[in-house]
Amino acid sequence: MFFASLCSSSGGNASYLGSFAGGILFDAGIGIRNYQKAMCLAGVPPESVRAICVTHEHSDHVQGLHAIAVRYGLPVYGSQGTIDALLEKGILTGEEKIYILEEPEEIAGFLVTPFRTPHDSAESTGFHIDLESGRSVGICTDLGYPSDEVLRGLLGCDFVLLESNYDRKMLLNGSYPPYLKQRIRSRHGHLSNDQCAQTIEQLVYHGSTRFVLGHLSQENNRPEIALSHSVEYLAGRTMLENRDYTIDVLPRFTCGRRFEIE
Ligand SMILES: [Zn+2]
Ligand SMILES: [Zn+2]
Repeated sequence: MFFASLCSSSGGNASYLGSFAGGILFDAGIGIRNYQKAMCLAGVPPESVRAICVTHEHSDHVQGLHAIAVRYGLPVYGSQGTIDALLEKGILTGEEKIYILEEPEEIAGFLVTPFRTPHDSAESTGFHIDLESGRSVGICTDLGYPSDEVLRGLLGCDFVLLESNYDRKMLLNGSYPPYLKQRIRSRHGHLSNDQCAQTIEQLVYHGSTRFVLGHLSQENNRPEIALSHSVEYLAGRTMLENRDYTIDVLPRFTCGRRFEIE
């Protein structure tokens, strides 16, 4: 079993969890050609993907959804609100096999449990995924703050993909118009490096050990800034990298390395 990010930024998000033989694609914010290339780099034939789970309807998560789902005959899972929004926008056409995911459900050999995320979309979710081995994985991007439901969803996950979207100073001093800065910083926007670090602290405290930071803003963050923010904050809480936890930043535009999960 392994986790591989295909792309992870405000420009596009998609990741794969499974084995070389089969697994789930989480979000499809990547064009079908790039998807095929990225899966090839990850070492997984696109034909072996079994399902797509979608967090929400924003284009950076669904731009390749229709093409990939139809081309490979994949079932698409999402919350009622997300599916309705995707159909309304014409991103899903009804040609796809669509399933509403509101409760824990077995998908491709995993138990997938959705949890709501506070974000300015119809009904966005993150996912808690239980593997047969007893390990669990959390996938959580696009959230304005770590709500109780988010923390409950991620608590106890061995491996967590968490958003570290923006650096507060870069956003405030950056070129975005005031309304957009306000939207990103709001409780229904995105998670800052500070909020990400504080969330990781709580998760480490409850036993999570492996983190990958994703969905970095292209304009308002840098990989080294996101990483040092969390590492330094946690060191101040006597939680040390490579002793208490490991942490990596996912590449924004390319397929990342495979993270093995037993
Ligand atoms: Zn979003
Ligand atoms: Zn997004």
